[in-house]
Amino acid sequence: MLRIVIIGLLLLVGGPVGAAPEPPRNLLVEIRHVPAAMRTPKIGEGSGGRFSFDSYKRDRVLSVVRDTVLTLATKEEFAAMLRDGFEAKVVMESADHLTLVKRGIYGPTLRPDPIFHSYAQIVERAGQLARAHPQLIARMQIGETTQFRRPIYAFRLSNDAARPKERPAVLFDGVHHADEVMGAEIILALMEKLAAGYGRDPEVTAWLDTLEIYLVPVVNVDGHDIITSGRDPRWRKNVRDVNGDGVTGVYPEGVDVNRGYDFNWAMGGSGNPDDPSYRGSFPFSEAENRAMRRLVDERQFLLSISYHSQFEVVFYPWVWNGMPAPDDAVIRPIATDLAAHLRTMDGLGTYAVSPGGPSSQSYPWLYGRRGVFDFIVETGKGAHILPATEVPGIIAANLEGVRAFLKHARGPGLAVRITDAVTGRPLAAEVWLPQIENETVSRRESDARFGRRWRLLTPGKHNVIVSREGYRTAVVNDVVVAGSGWTPLEVRLEPEKR
Ligand SMILES: [Zn+2]
Repeated sequence: MLRIVIIGLLLLVGGPVGAAPEPPRNLLVEIRHVPAAMRTPKIGEGSGGRFSFDSYKRDRVLSVVRDTVLTLATKEEFAAMLRDGFEAKVVMESADHLTLVKRGIYGPTLRPDPIFHSYAQIVERAGQLARAHPQLIARMQIGETTQFRRPIYAFRLSNDAARPKERPAVLFDGVHHADEVMGAEIILALMEKLAAGYGRDPEVTAWLDTLEIYLVPVVNVDGHDIITSGRDPRWRKNVRDVNGDGVTGVYPEGVDVNRGYDFNWAMGGSGNPDDPSYRGSFPFSEAENRAMRRLVDERQFLLSISYHSQFEVVFYPWVWNGMPAPDDAVIRPIATDLAAHLRTMDGLGTYAVSPGGPSSQSYPWLYGRRGVFDFIVETGKGAHILPATEVPGIIAANLEGVRAFLKHARGPGLAVRITDAVTGRPLAAEVWLPQIENETVSRRESDARFGRRWRLLTPGKHNVIVSREGYRTAVVNDVVVAGSGWTPLEVRLEPEKR
């Protein structure tokens, strides 16, 4: 039976000011059957939970998975747990913090479970799939990592993947944060599903016949390797040698790859290199961010998902000083629909939905600067690296999420096509919807290759202004966007007389 004793809580929050420092937490303790009211899988979620997930501090609770807690403890704290009636047992005692954390996060082997793929395995498997289905998968290198100059790959999937197609494109990326490894597993599973399903599964076939799907399984390749090689399960950032001492992989060095994008960069993350959210020394200082920028500038994406872990929530752009994003009327329903199709690990509900803030992460940059409706899906709950038994369920839930998400790549919206009225050549030009797009977002452009801008919109009347230097600006008022599908809008720009 569980007896809750207030004195036990006092022991865990620490003594009064001026008291002797606490002895080190040399014990790794597993506690089973912890009542829901006593555990808090997320920082700041609810209140009063005795075992609150410790995120990147990692000096106390390492994981809160279902009703099992793994926590570091002093001998006194462990004694208090027993006294309070918890089913607590010491799993390991060590003076080495990293060893305790390895045991807590990786498990008894002190290595990641083989269910998690290394980047080499992901690239190898993608290569096998591409050889088996050469028409469906094309690999491209989008950059190389900051520290070790490892290649970062994107994979383009369509029914004719060798060539860019004049279609809406959707991007899925994973592992901006090194230990948030579920993104790579979900994206690899999606690649398997697309390769195996084309010509067999009507839904997959329709996706690959009408869209281009881009997969970047791992953005932070160096950091991911620190995790999957078993070196340090705490790793979040990339592996930049920030202090220049020639030694890498010493926690907590590195730059937070998801604080490096150039949208209110200075307001995001931390300027302190030791912090988990260190943003680097300037926007796009990290090669991983520049690789993503190169991909996004080469191919305008309609929609994208960035997979992170954890907390079972979908973040969307944005709330900024209390104001929703200009495209909130389209973005929020997509976020809500996506979340409603993502089952939580406990099977009892679906993911939460929340607007994100407008700084330095992928989604405000992708949306604010490039017009991509980007969503962060935080998969799983209770640890960044979850026990292997949880992995298949999270992948299955997120493949359902992808099905719901890709329905939104069919419209409703405008398929704007801009050409030179004299030559008929496609043109890159600004496509501005003045009733929607305020000064918080950059002007969106059509792509140079096809002159296309796919623009998700609410059905009804919209005004469109198309402009490019050297051409007369075209103002198209009261374009009626149909209730479903893509409404075509051809705009022929007249060159200005010289
Ligand atoms: Zn993350």
